[in-house]
Amino acid sequence: MTVSGHALVTGGGSGIGAAVAKTLVDAGLRVTLLGRTLAPLQQLAAAHPGHMAAVQADVTDADAVAMAFTQARAHFGPITVLVNSAGQAGSAPFLKTDAALWQQMLAVNLTGTFHCTQAVLPDMLQAGWGRIINIASTAGLAGYAYVAAYCAAKHGVVGLTRALALELARKGITVNAVCPGYTETELLRDSIANVMAKTGRSEADARAEFAAGNPQGRIVQPEEVADTVRWLCSAGAASINGQSIAVCGGEIMN
Ligand code: NAP
Repeated sequence: MTVSGHALVTGGGSGIGAAVAKTLVDAGLRVTLLGRTLAPLQQLAAAHPGHMAAVQADVTDADAVAMAFTQARAHFGPITVLVNSAGQAGSAPFLKTDAALWQQMLAVNLTGTFHCTQAVLPDMLQAGWGRIINIASTAGLAGYAYVAAYCAAKHGVVGLTRALALELARKGITVNAVCPGYTETELLRDSIANVMAKTGRSEADARAEFAAGNPQGRIVQPEEVADTVRWLCSAGAASINGQSIAVCGGEIMN
């Protein structure tokens, strides 16, 4: 499947975002990677000369996002695919969830998605075509203990996806969420380390507990999430709109 155009992938320097970026380049797109830390973005871009570029921004900062999108356009022209993968998954029991953690989870996962979508939409409206793909989570579709703020933010991402999908339905633009279960990335490794520190369990035990939530008894690979994103970018996925596609071995069925 070949797709053309310019995709911007937030959180593109690692994990799911990096896998998405590589998959989209292989599919024929030019890709701009966005994140707060330039080095991993530049390293990945350098491995794909002429096909990937790197820009720096914190997605919680609307002005920085707008500036980074302008830089991205200078590399590869108008942006017609946006993949919102930048995210953080802070955890705490609810009564230990202070206002700072609550605000941070909303700011990065939900408001960051809002800022990037606002920055990209004029390009898509001008082109009469676009794909907005939000990497939400199974935590956007179901509750999980000890991650109330993250869950609330990801449910917000699913709500934003649904509302915007209807608003843009006649503009040639689709808006969908991809909802991974536990996926083999740094974010998951941090969560495993957190469980080990708090419970004294071994890494193998902590990892097994995360895998057990998936009916297939395994951790999802980032490339599986990336393949779903690539499909959503294809012409054949034009009728898929406002959906939240769970990539989790059947943990969630909707
Ligand atoms: P990851 O490897 O930690 O990637 C997260 C990326 O987001 C990093 O590249 C990070 O780069 C970037 N980022 C974080 N805060 C940012 C900010 N304020 N502004 C700009 N970029 C920011 O983790 P991942 O697992 O690939 O996560 C990607 C997405 O998948 C997240 O939205 C996450 O919630 C979602 N997800 C992950 C899992 C899982 O089990 N791994 C499951 C479901 C959903 P910098 O720190 O350099 O900015």
